[in-house]
Amino acid sequence: MIVRVLGSGSKGNAVLLEAGGTRVLIDAGFSPKGMEKRLAVMEVPPASIEAVIVTHEHSDHVSGVVACSRRWGWRILASAGTCTGSASLARASVERISTTGNVTIGELDLATIRLSHDANEPMAVVATSRETGARAGIVYDLGVFTEAVRRAVHGVDILMIEANHDVAMLRRGPYPPVLQRRIASRHGHLSNDAAAAAASACVHPGLSHVVLAHLSQNNNTPKIALETVRAALARTDFAGELTAASQGRVTGPFTPKGMPYRGPAQLQLAL
Ligand SMILES: [Zn+2]
Ligand SMILES: [Zn+2]
Repeated sequence: MIVRVLGSGSKGNAVLLEAGGTRVLIDAGFSPKGMEKRLAVMEVPPASIEAVIVTHEHSDHVSGVVACSRRWGWRILASAGTCTGSASLARASVERISTTGNVTIGELDLATIRLSHDANEPMAVVATSRETGARAGIVYDLGVFTEAVRRAVHGVDILMIEANHDVAMLRRGPYPPVLQRRIASRHGHLSNDAAAAAASACVHPGLSHVVLAHLSQNNNTPKIALETVRAALARTDFAGELTAASQGRVTGPFTPKGMPYRGPAQLQLAL
């Protein structure tokens, strides 16, 4: 299992999962040009990707999906609610999936989990390598990390979890009160404190990587997010690595402990 983040934040999200030669994207929130540029940094030919799973209809997750699919032949999988909420998906050929189901694509088993977020049918994805059993959870754009979500991601080797905002920065920041309330609500985004609690609740001996996702550029910094989550993880038995995904750079590859990455060596290259 290899996880690579093409970028994460309110200007676009895309996460590449790979196992046994199968490549699947979670979201494609960049233009085809932007996707191509990021994939080139990873030395991944776009046409080698089999499918894209769309977590929800917000433009930072869906904006490149249909154009990329047309250009490179990707299958598109999304819930009925996500299709209804997106003008481009509503007109495209989409395989409908449930927000609480399972789908197999090549060497990847993918389980979907319903999230609480201000979209029609937002979901998280837990991917399992059919070959090695390694698992990765991609959990962002959620207002609350529920017990059901925790159970679904329990035991993953790689956890990508949203750390959207620092509560004090959000309160002091540039957003009007109504938007602040929406972000902080149960249908908004996870704070650094909530991400810290979520990551701590997922600690087990096999947890190799915690990757912080969807950091706000106005109400957070990588330093504050990392410090907050690191302080919480220090009170647990976590022995893995903590990383903050970036909006403008690719991040990864992340692999489970004992399964080193043997591909091209590029990391953290600026775009
Ligand atoms: Zn988003
Ligand atoms: Zn969203």
